[in-house]
Amino acid sequence: MATMQLPVKINQTIEMEFTGLGHNGEGVGKYQGYTLFVSGALPGEIAKVKITKTNKNYGFARLLQVIKPSPDRVKPTCSIYEQCGGCQLQHLSYKGQLDQKRKIVQDNLERIGKIEDVTIHPTLGMENPWNYRNKSQVPFAEREGGLVAGFFAKGTHEVIDMKKCVIQQEANDRMVQDVRRIAEELGISAYNEVTHTGILRHVVSRVGANTGELMLILVTSRKDFPKKEQLVEKILEEIPELTSLVQNINEERTNVILGLKSITLWGRNVIYDTIGDIKFAISPRSFYQVNPEQTKVLYDKALEYAELTGEEIVIDAYCGIGTISLFVAQRAKHVYGVEIIPEAIKDAKRNAEINEIENVTFEVGAAEKVIPKWVEQGIKADVVVVDPPRKGCDEALLQTIIELKPKRMVYVSCNPSTLARDLRVLEDGGFKTVEVQPVDMFPQTSHVETVCLLTSNSKGSRGLDK
Ligand code: SAH
Repeated sequence: MATMQLPVKINQTIEMEFTGLGHNGEGVGKYQGYTLFVSGALPGEIAKVKITKTNKNYGFARLLQVIKPSPDRVKPTCSIYEQCGGCQLQHLSYKGQLDQKRKIVQDNLERIGKIEDVTIHPTLGMENPWNYRNKSQVPFAEREGGLVAGFFAKGTHEVIDMKKCVIQQEANDRMVQDVRRIAEELGISAYNEVTHTGILRHVVSRVGANTGELMLILVTSRKDFPKKEQLVEKILEEIPELTSLVQNINEERTNVILGLKSITLWGRNVIYDTIGDIKFAISPRSFYQVNPEQTKVLYDKALEYAELTGEEIVIDAYCGIGTISLFVAQRAKHVYGVEIIPEAIKDAKRNAEINEIENVTFEVGAAEKVIPKWVEQGIKADVVVVDPPRKGCDEALLQTIIELKPKRMVYVSCNPSTLARDLRVLEDGGFKTVEVQPVDMFPQTSHVETVCLLTSNSKGSRGLDK
């Protein structure tokens, strides 16, 4: 076959129009039928760009000049937006972000899932889409004799100093800056990942948004170091509202932030937060949704879609620390939760106890192994909830759910493309996607969260109207 001629060459400057947003918030458009991704460009814009990379089916270019700007283009709020890369959509108005997130879901469902006749609601956004994150993880480094605490500059491991992050809850920024100042005054060194020397690696801070409880985790390269006692003393003096002060020891040459060992230096070993009426204990290493306000919105929607009367048996696959399980248990007969991480199941059981919720059973294991076993044991579910990681559901799990044939299924997804793939399998197995609700869990970023309702087709025929 003759080599295909691409319409562009590296370093060529072209003018093009953008029609959509890619996975990482880049502008996407076609130039003479060839797809190009350009960071910083927005749908509806015409811009001058320079080609930087070409693959067979698509390429990348750098934004040189916006010729016709989108009416939704705004000036980014954050002064370090360009360097950081933690947010990708601050140059798009919040309304524009919500519209685009809905469109991303719709495009994926149509293109990958071949699902067209379904209601996709407008994205549920936040009234104030800033300062929402309840957790920050900040790397430390040394600069000109002092300490800097901030973020790794986009694509590098150089720490850029950051006093304030516009999507963080203020308490997190304040605590990190307090630690930076105190450690600097005491002359405590920052860890250097090249030489594998120095003490302070990261500071992780967490806020229980609805309780006001604060946890500070000092990630250090060893357990003991000079001036450790003064550090603890000073932190407690300057942040008297702290609930929990933890040291986490990470001796490895790794970019994983937390090590396996945590020591409580002061206070409790967990903080509590609430979602609705339920209280959750959060330990230093537990997964917990980062946007508490929108978590409630997401779970309320999942609960609404589950349409529970109190009589139902519910399976919650990928249950984490049992957040959704306990949330729906209030309205169900019994909930079975399954999760692959043993610590998370330990937390889930403890959270059930704290809230005196007895109609739940949690089991450690892969959902695709444990649920078929439950089915064999005769457990019948009226409702199945799944909330898988980015790669979506295991094919074997989907087949089990198709056999199990619950009346309703609620699919919570953080990745529209694997969602679309899985919905196709479920539709071929006799389910019908009824409603799709995008929820903005991560304003200013390109991440999209979606909750979907499926009902099982009463005829139950496979491969129905493909
Ligand atoms: N529903 C929870 C957690 C969702 S995150 C919440 O809202 O907080 C997805 C979870 O799936 C993670 O906790 C991850 O550990 C778990 N997981 C990943 N692969 C799995 C598998 N094959 N079986 C069961 N759980 C899995």
